[in-house]
Amino acid sequence: MIMDIPSTINETRDGLLSKKYRVVDLINAYLAKIARYDGQINSFITVCEENAYKVAKKADKLISEFGEKAFQDYPLLGCVVAHKDVFVTEGIRTTAASKVLDSYVPCYSATAVTRLDNAGAICIGKLNCDAWAHGSSGENSQFGATKNPWNLKYVPGGSSSGSGAALAADFCLLSTGTDTCGSVRLPSNYCGVVGLKPTYGAISRYGVIAMASSLDTVGPMAKTVEDVEMMFQAISGPDGKDATIASVKYQSKNSSFKIGIPKEFFGEGLDDEVRNNLDSVIQIYKKLGVDFVDVSLPSTKYAISVYYVIQPAEVSSNLARYDGIRYGNSRDAFGDEAKRRIMLGTYVLSSGYYDAYYLKAMKVRTLIRKEVSDVFEKVDAVIAPVAPTPPFKIGAKANDPLQMYLTDIYAATANLSGIPSIAIPSGFTKNGLPLGFQLMGPRFSESLLFDLGKKYHKEISYKPSVAKL
Ligand code: GLN
Repeated sequence: MIMDIPSTINETRDGLLSKKYRVVDLINAYLAKIARYDGQINSFITVCEENAYKVAKKADKLISEFGEKAFQDYPLLGCVVAHKDVFVTEGIRTTAASKVLDSYVPCYSATAVTRLDNAGAICIGKLNCDAWAHGSSGENSQFGATKNPWNLKYVPGGSSSGSGAALAADFCLLSTGTDTCGSVRLPSNYCGVVGLKPTYGAISRYGVIAMASSLDTVGPMAKTVEDVEMMFQAISGPDGKDATIASVKYQSKNSSFKIGIPKEFFGEGLDDEVRNNLDSVIQIYKKLGVDFVDVSLPSTKYAISVYYVIQPAEVSSNLARYDGIRYGNSRDAFGDEAKRRIMLGTYVLSSGYYDAYYLKAMKVRTLIRKEVSDVFEKVDAVIAPVAPTPPFKIGAKANDPLQMYLTDIYAATANLSGIPSIAIPSGFTKNGLPLGFQLMGPRFSESLLFDLGKKYHKEISYKPSVAKL
């Protein structure tokens, strides 16, 4: 019999302090659930049983010695976390879900990993994803596709597929992902959990296997906005190892909120259930006194095209280091999607095409950034769908890269302009698949997005739900 697994950080702490369970019991419960069900879901590439028990025993000792005080020093004490397998972890195999790295054991850990360790969290394993974080469905993993725990015939969203699926299946309390163009928000949305794509420059990328460096961000994922906020507090801020990181205090302009509805995000191709769900979210915010105004971001219609020029250009450069000399297997081990992006990227950067593609895309990126910052002169935040449709069936887009790329049509703007965006669950389709929405804010306005997310969940008396397996 598997014990009831707590669904939040506070619940975990309360259970530990009241001696309802020990940290070791929690590890037993999570591991039993993973052993019993992950065969169908495939959310983990590596399970770190030994590490989990070793750290759990120390945590139990701290709690029995210091009680509540232990949680002041270690705010995430006893919280079980799993990392997308693009975060390097000292002594634990890290693959980026690619056969190129199938035997790579790093000698150091990413900043996000170290900071979660230092906050008392317990790493239980490394999560499946699209290889090199290239994808929107989890199907590009060279370790097999991840399935959506809400319905195993459907994709969990990618590229942080395991990070969403493991939370929805209760295989961990917290997870990490990366978002270069939606890869935290989409799996959060498709798995019914909360995920933050932070401001570019808020969380260090040190020790994260690079995809497209001017767009990559590290994102916390959990079942509630409060927990994502606590993770963000634990991992954000300068570490001296990523020169883009700043520590900026966000000053809210107003006491009442105004949210923009960008018309370009609500046009043709948006699924009815997604649209109706968003309408109901807007009604709830209106009830809470939030004002809504129509806004326009005309150049964002080019966002996905711009992304598919800039991103492969950066991918082709970043993947050049996996030449078979330094990190394990040779370039023959790359899958089709990585090869496609290396070819696209070298093409748009080659002489004769650079001006026509790469330079032009960079100019449009500047326009998008400008429109986005102008909009935030008028509104505090912007609301949008995360994806045009609810989760789709496994295989539905796997052989059509262009259709797959369009899944991220609403995600690209936040990455191209460097602003934060949070994906928040807001119900289910009539077929029982998760629905959600995203809120974007100006650079470094994470605290505002957390406040807005919490307001909404409080009003609907939100309780995180777990997929029945
Ligand atoms: N789905 C997008 C892609 O395939 C984004 C991936 C990501 O955010 N890592 O490139």
